[in-house]
Amino acid sequence: MSSIQIFPEDASLTSYFGWLDIEQQRYMFRIIDVDKNESNLRRAKLILSKPLYPILSQCEDTLQSMLLQSSTLDNFLVELDAIVRRMLSSVSNTSQRPIISNLQSNNSNSNAKLFSKVTDELSTIGWDRVRNVDDNFQQLELACTDNSGRSHIVQIELPSDYPKSPPICILNVPETNSKNNSSNSSTTNHTTNHTTTNHHQRSKRTRTVLWVPGQQHLRAVLEQAKVWLSEYNTFWNEFDDFDANTWILEPVRPSRSDSLRRIALRKHCSVEITIKPDRPRDVCTCTFIGPEHIVADLRTAFHSGQRTWDRNLTVRNNMERILGQSFPSPATSSKSDFSVECGVCYAYRLDDGNGTTLLPDTTCESCGQHFHANCIGEWLQALPSTRRSFNVLFGNCPYCTRPISVQKS
Ligand code: ZN
Ligand code: ZN
Repeated sequence: MSSIQIFPEDASLTSYFGWLDIEQQRYMFRIIDVDKNESNLRRAKLILSKPLYPILSQCEDTLQSMLLQSSTLDNFLVELDAIVRRMLSSVSNTSQRPIISNLQSNNSNSNAKLFSKVTDELSTIGWDRVRNVDDNFQQLELACTDNSGRSHIVQIELPSDYPKSPPICILNVPETNSKNNSSNSSTTNHTTNHTTTNHHQRSKRTRTVLWVPGQQHLRAVLEQAKVWLSEYNTFWNEFDDFDANTWILEPVRPSRSDSLRRIALRKHCSVEITIKPDRPRDVCTCTFIGPEHIVADLRTAFHSGQRTWDRNLTVRNNMERILGQSFPSPATSSKSDFSVECGVCYAYRLDDGNGTTLLPDTTCESCGQHFHANCIGEWLQALPSTRRSFNVLFGNCPYCTRPISVQKS
């Protein structure tokens, strides 16, 4: 029976972690920078864990060059196994052995114990679900599928005395606004009293697992994560609906923790929608962006239509009904039709140099082109035809040449 094992750390098979079991002691190591397309391991690197280091420190260079020359990882592992055994038996014959034992019993012994406990548990969960493990085996990232079939990555932090103390689970979920405490009280009575008291102060992203030492397992953490993630089902349904059926202008790559989208509405006009994670079917917050004469009408329509908001409909359906128009769909339009980038610098967000992000909030009322006030201001100032009255610049739009004015900051 082989006592040496390795497992890939990532799906692209570029790094591995593994261990050797010798005399009831587990010795961990990692092999990184493996190029699976290469016929050898020219760039690969061996990283020794603390318990292995005192044993192999003298021959680390030898091992490294053996790794580089090995044609496969398996070949190298056989040699590594043989070398560790040889080194252990040689030190056991000398007076050095007690020094190593001491080293191991201080820190490394508890590390090795934690390591072997965690690897056993990960084996039962399935290595295909392991996305990342840190060197100390205290921070894990595991794949978890929620009740609606969405994939998530759950971060788990193990205390150094795991499994005595409970693990901490970090979820990629939106921050909920603690202002809604009063309305939450009816939804939190399924939890016990002592957890509700600190429920509101703590971020909902970081949660302590309900834990019975000695009876639970990392699998239980994933089961609890699944329950916690299901709290956001309706919230994610709403955004999945927008993501699939509208042009999302921002964020460029939405994450499960985002509660905001900027969505194309018409040419040169978009709407920023914020959905409350804990009350996703409520009236959403909307900011309309575009030429003032269009945006003003949309704002009025949305404001007066709010009282007809129907929680049985999706947020998208409600908005389309209230605004009296459908969102442009990727199936029938092109994203470039709806760009609202600045016509001078071609960016949407602009850093003003003092840590403030500027948006293209100035619009040409004739052609609808957007500009950052700073950008169009500088553009106009450079032209001899521009007139200045107090702090307002009057000139011509660089796109349609019709009159445009901008406040000089
Ligand atoms: Zn600009
Ligand atoms: Zn214009």
